Amino acid sequence: MLFVPWQYIADWKCNTCGLCCKAYSVVLSFQEWLNIVKNYGVETTTTSLNKLYLRRKSNGSCIFLYKLSNMHLCGLQHMKPTACKLWPFKILTTPKYGYPREAAYPYLGKILYVYADSTCTGLQYGTPTWTFANQTVKEFIEIAIGARREQSKSTANIGLNYHAIPLRRIF
Ligand code: SF4
Ligand code: SF4
Repeated sequence: MLFVPWQYIADWKCNTCGLCCKAYSVVLSFQEWLNIVKNYGVETTTTSLNKLYLRRKSNGSCIFLYKLSNMHLCGLQHMKPTACKLWPFKILTTPKYGYPREAAYPYLGKILYVYADSTCTGLQYGTPTWTFANQTVKEFIEIAIGARREQSKSTANIGLNYHAIPLRRIF
């Protein structure tokens, strides 16, 4: 997999392709695991090598992924794990994947390094738009550091019944 520094990305919008919910196992924090188990039962989760995960269906997709028309939607939207909220971006304190200048993002007097996983089909490459640079990346950073929980720019938006309903990953 290839990680692309954010300054090479013009914009990102989740197109509900569902790829990420089929390709990866979702690691849960203990608190996330507890909330999910309380609401949906322990059988929706699994453990391996001392880590907690969402269970996957026999076809490999997340147990909470469902399809509506041609969209792949998240059935866990209201308690979506942080790992899902952050996909496809990685927010790091060191330039682990190279290109330190292009990955650098100044935030509250510090420099963070932001990359995107190139396997996401919602990435558009080019010069970052103002919205992507100043709102979308910022929101991913704030979710990563725990400064916010609700998603706006970091989730897919589909128009239903006059409201934009955030559904991501459907990621
Ligand atoms: S975030 Fe996941 S569902 Fe959305 S476009 Fe990227 S790969 Fe597809
Ligand atoms: S976004 Fe939802 S459906 Fe996709 S992996 Fe995460 S919890 Fe599962």
